Amino acid sequence: MIAGLHEWNADRADPISEPRLARSLGVSELKAPPAGTRRDVPVIRFPYTQVCPDCRRIGTLKDLSKDWNIAKCSIDKTDLSPFRLIVACRNGHIDEFPYYQWLHKGQEVAGKEHQMKLKALGRTSSLGDLVLTCSCGVDDRSLEGAIGAGSLSDFGLCRGLRPWLGIDAKEACDQIPRVLQRGASNVWYPAVRSSISIPPYSEALSKFVDKHWVSLADPQAVNDVLLRNVAASSKGKFTVEQIEAELARRRSEEQDDDDLSEARLRLDEYKALIEGREEEGLDSDFVCLPREVPDEFAHLITHMRKVTRLREVRALQGFSRLDGAPDPNVPTQQKLCDLAPTRLPWLPAIEVIGEGIFMAFDRQALADWSDGEFVQRRRKLLQRASDRKAAEYDRPSTPVDIVKVAIHTLSHIVIDQLSLDAGYPAAALRERLFVDDEVAGLLVYTASSDSAGSLGGVASMAETERFGSALAEGLQRLSWCSSDPVCIESRGSGTDALNLAACHACVLAPETSCEMNNSFLDRALLFGTFEGDHESDGLFNSSFTRSSIG
Ligand SMILES: [Zn+2]
Ligand SMILES: [Zn+2]
Ligand SMILES: [Zn+2]
Ligand SMILES: [Zn+2]
Ligand SMILES: [Zn+2]
Repeated sequence: MIAGLHEWNADRADPISEPRLARSLGVSELKAPPAGTRRDVPVIRFPYTQVCPDCRRIGTLKDLSKDWNIAKCSIDKTDLSPFRLIVACRNGHIDEFPYYQWLHKGQEVAGKEHQMKLKALGRTSSLGDLVLTCSCGVDDRSLEGAIGAGSLSDFGLCRGLRPWLGIDAKEACDQIPRVLQRGASNVWYPAVRSSISIPPYSEALSKFVDKHWVSLADPQAVNDVLLRNVAASSKGKFTVEQIEAELARRRSEEQDDDDLSEARLRLDEYKALIEGREEEGLDSDFVCLPREVPDEFAHLITHMRKVTRLREVRALQGFSRLDGAPDPNVPTQQKLCDLAPTRLPWLPAIEVIGEGIFMAFDRQALADWSDGEFVQRRRKLLQRASDRKAAEYDRPSTPVDIVKVAIHTLSHIVIDQLSLDAGYPAAALRERLFVDDEVAGLLVYTASSDSAGSLGGVASMAETERFGSALAEGLQRLSWCSSDPVCIESRGSGTDALNLAACHACVLAPETSCEMNNSFLDRALLFGTFEGDHESDGLFNSSFTRSSIG
């Protein structure tokens, strides 16, 4: 398990400049995880419970190896392996599986010595096949039923341990912990916030000031001598006046940017994408060129952009366990687990460079369409599922934006088609949705952490004619699903029934591509349904007729 940020070698971590994102996360800096020596990002051993594959003894590392730092059995010198069960609770605590109690609870304990073993019956690989035994003479007990809600309800409350923050980092907790497989995906859900860099200023100057930010950040400390020295170090590229202007710009931005919510950051990105930006130089972070909207989509798409270069910064804000990935639409609703015992002035982040296609939609046309009875009925189905989930996790209900569901479904179609046409695996493409009451936009982009970025294949698809035919083909192809009519007639599918007509045979995308956990998808919104004569109610039905189903 990776240790808390307080243990990281932060001095060796390079700063990643994205001031707006940092401020919106309440920190002064973002830093790349240090990578150099093994100690830069330390790890801790978890769980301590180990099993010897040879003599089958189970115990703590110390019990089995006689040394906390060595993972070899002291009897047969075999490498120990970590026990496959752990426990965790909804408050993010994590702990050892109580194997001693699991075996001894409710049994008369005669002997004093407890040499425990975990025997495998060798019939199946299920938990029922694993049996705990003890030299004290209690009856054997298998791990059957260890995983499942309430399996630990007789074993007391969660101990509130947070081993990544240190052995003493305990909290009071009222939860009954749940047993999980060590590597299961619900053990750790990262909460990532990201932003696309939109430099509203000269990028070269800004980068230069970033480099000297340590000395320039404090307005009290800035004086003429310092400014002259800093300017001199640019070797004539920047003057004192230019640097002063950049500092003033930053300070005023800090003051009037009190709304740094996710929604506000997104809206600023949307505006920048609409505005576009010519290439400024080789080190531009954002190049976004206007392209004509293909005629056949002009009734719906208002702007097309070819984004030949973009920079995205993704910061890790915290994480959660058990409850499912933090809802990206309601980022503040969930209490996240801390990455450090006390709030640090920085968070870990990575920077990726990429390219993409952006399109904006006629928001009024979408609003008119979404008022229709067919669309509203679909909205109610999703709203009911969403409310059910909110109640289950004890969260306030949030309204389902059906226009966003439609654009989201379209986004997955674009991703699927681009992966065919531009030769990128779908998992390398990402979506970014810009949908609220005022605007509707979609950015599909590829971003990789190596500085070369990508090869231009995605952006080149933004050329009007190519894009028109690609989109038409994607829509044509995915108006039909090999699981139809079951898929198109679905009244709730996917995790928590948060999808309607969407399945693995059609619009579900790789996990890494989707910013909504593959939920809130419905092909019927785009193509209508056969049931009850709603073929023409889909968003794209005026321009596309669905290919016949069987
Ligand atoms: Zn052994
Ligand atoms: Zn015993
Ligand atoms: Zn707990
Ligand atoms: Zn399907
Ligand atoms: Zn998605």
